[in-house]
Amino acid sequence: MPIAQKPDRGMVHTNPMECKGCGLCVEACPPHGLSLSPHLNRYGFHTAVYSGHGCTGCGICFFVCPEPGGIQVLRTAA
Ligand code: SF4
Ligand code: SF4
Repeated sequence: MPIAQKPDRGMVHTNPMECKGCGLCVEACPPHGLSLSPHLNRYGFHTAVYSGHGCTGCGICFFVCPEPGGIQVLRTAA
């Protein structure tokens, strides 16, 4: 019998216009759901991108991000 997967408890939106590609959120995310894009944004930064699954909604990426508006965490309803 397949193991039922729990739904993600959070969703993350990164903002390629505000992210400076410092990588702090990438290092801090416990389930390793973030990475830096191989592409440059218009300001020449490799910005953070979310894999699209596995977010727990912990908010750590939000709290470590030094750029206001760089990353947004939405928690799903319990
Ligand atoms: S909220 Fe937590 S689990 Fe979700 S992307 Fe940010 S650090 Fe990772
Ligand atoms: S911590 Fe903020 S500025 Fe740094 S890579 Fe992540 S979203 Fe971008």
